[in-house]
Amino acid sequence: MAVAVAAPAHSGIYAPLTYRSPVPLPPGTLVRVPLGKREVLGVVWGAEPEPEPPISSTVRDIAGLLGDAQAGTASNASESLPPLDEHWRALISFAARYYQRALGEVALAALPPQLRTLNATQMARRLKRLHAGTHTPSEAKQEPAAQAEGSATQKTLSADQTLALTRIEQENGPFLLFGTTGSGKTEIYMRAAEKALAQHERAQVLVLVPEINLTPQLEARFVERFGKAMVVSMHSGLTSAQRLAGWLAAHTGHARIVLGTRMAVLASMPDLALIVVDEEHDPSYKQQEGARYSARDLAVYRGKLVGAKVILGSATPSLESWQQSRPTAEGGNGRYVRLAMPRRIGAENADQGLPRVRRVDMSRQPRGALISPPLLTAIGERVARGEQTLLLLNRRGYAPVLHCADCGWKSECTYCSAYRVFHKIDRTLRCHHCGFTERVPRACPSCGNLDIGTIGRGTEQLEEHLAELLASALRPDGSPARIARIDADSTRGKGSLESQLAQVHAGEVDVLVGTQMIAKGHDFRRVTLVAAINPDGALFSSDFRAPERLFALLLQAAGRAGRDATVAAASEMWVQTHHPTHPLYEALKVHDYPAFAESQLNERAQAGLPPFAHLALLRADARSQEAAQAFLRAAAHEAQTTLATGSETQAAFEHTTWYPPVPMAVQRVANVERAQMMIESPSRAALQRVLAACQPLLHRLRTTPEHRGIVRWIMDVDPLAV
Ligand code: ADP
Ligand code: ZN
Ligand code: ZN
Repeated sequence: MAVAVAAPAHSGIYAPLTYRSPVPLPPGTLVRVPLGKREVLGVVWGAEPEPEPPISSTVRDIAGLLGDAQAGTASNASESLPPLDEHWRALISFAARYYQRALGEVALAALPPQLRTLNATQMARRLKRLHAGTHTPSEAKQEPAAQAEGSATQKTLSADQTLALTRIEQENGPFLLFGTTGSGKTEIYMRAAEKALAQHERAQVLVLVPEINLTPQLEARFVERFGKAMVVSMHSGLTSAQRLAGWLAAHTGHARIVLGTRMAVLASMPDLALIVVDEEHDPSYKQQEGARYSARDLAVYRGKLVGAKVILGSATPSLESWQQSRPTAEGGNGRYVRLAMPRRIGAENADQGLPRVRRVDMSRQPRGALISPPLLTAIGERVARGEQTLLLLNRRGYAPVLHCADCGWKSECTYCSAYRVFHKIDRTLRCHHCGFTERVPRACPSCGNLDIGTIGRGTEQLEEHLAELLASALRPDGSPARIARIDADSTRGKGSLESQLAQVHAGEVDVLVGTQMIAKGHDFRRVTLVAAINPDGALFSSDFRAPERLFALLLQAAGRAGRDATVAAASEMWVQTHHPTHPLYEALKVHDYPAFAESQLNERAQAGLPPFAHLALLRADARSQEAAQAFLRAAAHEAQTTLATGSETQAAFEHTTWYPPVPMAVQRVANVERAQMMIESPSRAALQRVLAACQPLLHRLRTTPEHRGIVRWIMDVDPLAV
């Protein structure tokens, strides 16, 4: 029988392996099998894809079932693990094929790590705990009753919400819920979930969120509405025991709602009826190692596969989803059904309740000012009124570079082609790429000059500077202004983000300084001023997605202001910029995402970029940049000679464009040189065909003596950053 196992990446084994079993086992059964000298977990697979032919004539026996009675416990039906169903296997097969990874690798990575170590007794105990525990079906059945009680006091839906829900009920989707912040998208998710759960007593709902730590309120709202027993979480912040328990609860149907990050899209949920992808534009839905899948795209695929409805929600959808949901010329739906909720709850029109956007022309401000005088005045007024301010600066640390004006020395990392960031708090120079950290030198390491300075500014410096500027600012009760900072450095400890956020919520902080972390989903009630300190960099970035990300970030940040109706009227979003008339800021000023999307899509169409073309990146890491590029050049050459003439691949190959290899933006990390090569095609199918045909060729190339210097190669399909 065919068994999917996680074979080592360099083996070039993509398909399941062949094993022998004394008894026939249904596909999806978890088994233990020998692999080399080890015994590993595997999943019995069906006929597709065809297993690898056995290497030797002796096919090895499977070692046993996972949770087999090897320890001597008699297992009855309720205590054995149901096989992974056909839909799950089809999803895994697709993900492996589409993202050009080995099937076994994707399958095993989608299972909780602790599953591998369970013996029969432990498995039986865990399953028994599930049946007996809080996730009992009988308790789940009582939930709707409790809900019905609550529903008497449930909110009356807004007109926009009613329309959106009706269409979700009546049409198949997938749906793009394009709703401004505060328009009530979460309420839609919960109502749609109620409907889905009511379909039958086992129906399940999957809710994906970008980063669970940044959206604790969503989890709280689901638990409040549906009860703790119904909901499990799935994200990398859990212990392995918690992850296993959550996975088992979903797999056995005890959990009816799974709330998780991108990894949850691959969870086994046999009765899936609805998938929600909140903040669908968020880059964290794209996995950045192993199989580099997009959880959003897999969610859409999975929905279609199992007949579950899919709702993608955002105030600033990805341009891919926006394009997919473009209505037809006749006014019909695109591939996705676009549902617009342009008004905040309680607002009469689209503008109401949204903060006024103000641009500060930095070329008219004192040179080098981090905070312009008018912004400082505005912050001071907020402090005096007891209102809160958020200041956004997308750079952590004190200063991005330390330098010596005498000899030109800069704080370059020894191992990377990047500068180490100056962190004043612990007086270190830290590389944000490889982690290399040293104490700040007292004098210039190259010439001994004692007067070394900083270039550029990060959140630490902003916080320090602000403390000086606001030294005499007083709150309504006469106490001094309080400033806090939230970024990846301030939130390292477990639970520290939560406690810092709690302080902001409790009104203990007047001015919050931070990176994009503070712009996401938080529902801060007393914020009336949000300011972007220095956002211009993204306007001229070489990454074609940078403007899209900046617009989403700024609009999302603006959405933090004026959430409370009593302060909404006075709420403002400030942008400090040297390019006040840039179209991106013009669109931001009128909160006009569609106009911004339209202009971006025009540019993308002209440049032949996604969503109008499909991309893949082939990356090579090597000891030298020349070696990395030589490997990519050889790959392109091989592809040209074999694929362009192969009868099956020729047509597809002709639809692809191969760009020359180039060094990556940060070309050396931890002493490894990195180069990449872009492959582009107007046809997704053609690109897929060519990439698949490249796999064996790349494995072969990697083993040739000329390319001994290659550390690894990586294929990224639909890459986010190019
Ligand atoms: P979004 O997810 O689009 O930002 P939310 O779902 O969080 O918006 O809704 C914003 C606020 O409005 C929340 O406090 C929510 O409880 C409230 N809300 C949502 N729908 C309604 C409604 N129909 N009536 C009254 N309040 C609502
Ligand atoms: Zn020097
Ligand atoms: Zn480094």
